[in-house]
Amino acid sequence: MKTESTHKEETVLKGIPASPGIVIGPVFLFQKQAPVFEERSIHLDDVDRELGRLEQAIARSHKELSKILEFAEKKLGEDKIKIFEAQLMFLEDAVLFDAIYARIKSELKNAEFIVNDEIGKYHRIMLASKDEYTLERAHDVEDVRNRVIRNLQEQRAISRLEGSSIIVSQNLTAVDTLILSRNDVLAYATDLGGITSHTALLSRALKIPAVVGLKSISHLVHDQDQIVLDGYSGNVVLNPTEKTIKKYEAKRERYHEFEAKLAGLRDLPAETLDHHRVELSANAEFEEELDFIKIQGADGIGLYRSEYLIVGKEVFPSEEEQYSQYKLLAEAMYPKRVIVRTFDIGGDKLMVESIKENNPFLGWRGIRVMLDKPNLFIEQLRAILRASSRKNIAVMFPMVSTLTEVREAKKYLDEAKHQLKKENVPYDARIKVGVMIEVPAAAVIAEDLAEEVDFLSIGTNDLIQYLLAVDRGNDVVSSLYQEFNPAVVRFLRRIIERGKKKGVWVGMCGEMAGDPLATILLLGLGLDEFSVVPNMLPEIKKIIRSVKFTEAQKIAKYVLSLKTEAEIKDHLRSVMKKKFPDMPID
Ligand code: PEP
Ligand code: MG
Repeated sequence: MKTESTHKEETVLKGIPASPGIVIGPVFLFQKQAPVFEERSIHLDDVDRELGRLEQAIARSHKELSKILEFAEKKLGEDKIKIFEAQLMFLEDAVLFDAIYARIKSELKNAEFIVNDEIGKYHRIMLASKDEYTLERAHDVEDVRNRVIRNLQEQRAISRLEGSSIIVSQNLTAVDTLILSRNDVLAYATDLGGITSHTALLSRALKIPAVVGLKSISHLVHDQDQIVLDGYSGNVVLNPTEKTIKKYEAKRERYHEFEAKLAGLRDLPAETLDHHRVELSANAEFEEELDFIKIQGADGIGLYRSEYLIVGKEVFPSEEEQYSQYKLLAEAMYPKRVIVRTFDIGGDKLMVESIKENNPFLGWRGIRVMLDKPNLFIEQLRAILRASSRKNIAVMFPMVSTLTEVREAKKYLDEAKHQLKKENVPYDARIKVGVMIEVPAAAVIAEDLAEEVDFLSIGTNDLIQYLLAVDRGNDVVSSLYQEFNPAVVRFLRRIIERGKKKGVWVGMCGEMAGDPLATILLLGLGLDEFSVVPNMLPEIKKIIRSVKFTEAQKIAKYVLSLKTEAEIKDHLRSVMKKKFPDMPID
């Protein structure tokens, strides 16, 4: 990250692009004041009054959060309100608040002090976690504490802003993001947060551009500063010069024009000029994305990240809850296919049990967790199977590294089928099964895995980090995280060839599938299915429809002979420049 100057000099900050769009506008610095209060001793006679004050503050906080929940439900639909329900649940935690009441009585201290101290204990433990999910929840706990203290002091929260602005903050909780969106928010920019943070998830759902993980933006800007935020590349420009503003306005214009031109592609197939057809599907996390995915003309859902059902929950969703979600997806997309990936928890994602691991990315993740939890795994498989009776659902296993894991997972699938059969519950007996190829070991044995399943789906996000030994979330080595590294490209060729030789189709659901610079290469390597972030669908389709398969094969062959990432990118860029002079490629 560059932080060259804080003065009037132009400064470019590099963050994580969380929600697309380019915005130029004034900053509103959203600073969350830590509550200011005194530690006060109270008289024995005042205890009842103090307890009453706390009771009222809790009731008021409850009312506020219930309203927020209601608003979230309207704006986001039922699925994402779980994030908000979590705060309400915390507020309803009888053990916690009983302890607070008891301490006020025994220590004879004011409610603000005890609330701060008692909830602060939880907060500190959660903040010490390395797990991104627990850290996110720590901010929610802090939010509840501040809300109760604010209500004890009978103050009101900031939620109304004048005019339109780019909200800059150290961090935004789900509640902040949602409540601020009632105003004319142009974009969000935060110091903290990753691609799966609440700000990122909600801003995508709210269709508000956002860049997160900017490290220090909240210290570098002032209210009303004019900044540029590019939610495509993750760049935020402070003190932009006239020239920079013009450059970004032009980029925004190009994107708009390009998007307008793409609108007509919706109902056309993803087919090359010489009629080689591929499948172009979407990755999905939330049911609210379904309408957009359909509008974008997806051939189906190539990756449904089921673990997002656990966001905001401490426990796994029940079979019934899962069934209704998978059924909703299957019905909404019918007759198109939905590939449900079994829970991929661990790594930087939500943990069910807070086990501490030194290397979570090399630890208890994906299929490893589910094979260790057969009951939960069978429940999920039963829910997926029950939703498959229309025959448009497939199931896919993440983080596979051995053949034995796949065989075991399939045994559980058979067990789930067996149970449903006995219960006379309908399901697709021939449900298609796939594995994700995201661990190098799985890529090496792709042909053996292919013999066990119906399809392979390459998860480049993880595959690249494991193949190149580069943590996908570590800034220090981010320049080494290379989609176009020759080792990656040759590995991809190998997986695609081996899989297809065994007669299964090979797709890709990692971010690389949605990178326009990679499309012709992947097509030429023989990829059968591209599953991409929904907003990239038209652009990728446009590229596919503008080349001949034979030409893409030639380009792929040439790329395979190149020896550095720079050579590969330069070559692909020059191909794209020639073919699509007006396509904005970074
Ligand atoms: C991947 O690793 O490429 C992938 C699609 O899975 P996730 O990003 O959810 O780990
Ligand atoms: Mg993965």
